[in-house]
This record gives sequence, C-alpha cells and structure tokens, in this order.
Amino acid sequence: MAIKTILNYSPNFNDKKRSIKEIKFIIFHYTGMKKESEAISRLTDIQSEVSCHYLIKNNGEIITMVPESYIAWHVGKSSWRRCKSLNKNSIGIEITNPGHEFNYKKFSKKQIISLLRLSKLLIKKYRINIKNILGHSDVAPERKKDPGEKFPWKYLSKNRVGLWHTSKKKELLKNRTIKTTNIDKELFFNNLFKIGYSKKIPKNMSKDRYKAFIIKAFQRRYRQELINVKIDKECLLISQNLIKRKY
Ligand SMILES: [Zn+2]
Repeated sequence: MAIKTILNYSPNFNDKKRSIKEIKFIIFHYTGMKKESEAISRLTDIQSEVSCHYLIKNNGEIITMVPESYIAWHVGKSSWRRCKSLNKNSIGIEITNPGHEFNYKKFSKKQIISLLRLSKLLIKKYRINIKNILGHSDVAPERKKDPGEKFPWKYLSKNRVGLWHTSKKKELLKNRTIKTTNIDKELFFNNLFKIGYSKKIPKNMSKDRYKAFIIKAFQRRYRQELINVKIDKECLLISQNLIKRKY
C-alpha cells in the first residue's frame, strides 16, 4: 500500500484468509475510550476479542492492526440490504475519539486527511461502491452510535467517500421541524430501507423502538445539526434525494 502505516498487530481475526472479491464495504468507527492508548491496548488484547484493520490516531498516524486479507472483528451483529454480519465483507477503520460516553469531540484535521487518503486507496483497490461506505451505527443502529454526528460525512462525500444528498441548504432549513403526515412517515421508512437500513426488527424490541433507532442513525449521518428522533419534512426530503442519487 502506498501509504505509511505503523504495524501493531491484533490477534483478533479469523485464521482463514478471505478472497479479495468478498471485500465490499468500508465501515467507520470511533474508539469510544477516554484515552487513545487504552483503545490501542484493547484492540490488540486477545481477551477483548475486538479489532479493526486500521486505527487512525489523533495525530493522523495510521496503525495497521489486521491485514486486509483477514477478517477483523469490528462490526459484530449487523446488516445492510441483504448482507448480514458484515465483518467478512468489510474493512474496519477505527478513529480515535472518546465518543458519546466520554465527551465526544470533533475529529482532528489530521485524522480526516489520513482517513480520506486511506479510504480513497481502499475504494480503488477493491472497487468499493460509494453506497457501501458506512458507519457502525448505519449497520447496527439499535446498538451503536459511532462514528456519530461529528463525523464529516458531507466533506468526505465531496471526495467521493460515502453517499450524501444534493438538497439545497435553504430548502432544507425551510422544512426543518415541519410536521409530516403518517403517509410521509411511511414513505420515509421505505426510503430508509431502500438506502439499506435493515427492515428486520431485532428480537425483544418493539417496532416503535427500532424505528426510533433508525431515525437516529439517519439523522446522525445526514442531518447532523438536529438529532431529535422526529421525522420532519427535512428528513423526508433528504431521504427522497438520497434514493434518487445515481452512481
Ligand atoms: Zn464501532
């Protein structure tokens, strides 16, 4: 790879190598721990049974933890469109950030520059579809919040790393907090399922609770300024725009 990384291997991966054809997704995470050093220790500790392919430090340095041809353990129970348990099909990138539990902060410029470079290389190398560049909360909305609403999806998408909408800001603001009808809401969820969010309600969870989780995941990604779990006209418009985008 034409990018400089530090090697700090994790023992947490499947013994069996995968074929390159299986790699279809990139999944972004934040580490969600107070200190960066703690996060690195955890991801390389055999007891933790978690890992990632790459970790991007606060200073922008990239650590290789698992080679791409092996399955790392970063995403757990997950689904997107017809794919389930996405570890086998994905490359997992962790970005140091204390996360929602410990004073969630802005990602550093250096982190984002490294992330962009790394993602672009991977997209090219594995011909990853732009729609398959996702956050942990997209594929496991009922369990995960990362990488969260401070993750610069819009900026990344300008560089063709991940999907974004083309709706005009002014138009969106006019529609913010404007109430939707039940038909609108139904349309919104159908759009979410078309985008890829899982239709399947997790066991032991009510339909309404699951719906709230997917609204939140959607807002954390596409309407980062207001995460209120309410489907207003702005959310509907964004979802309409996203399903119409062609790549
Ligand atoms: Zn995660």
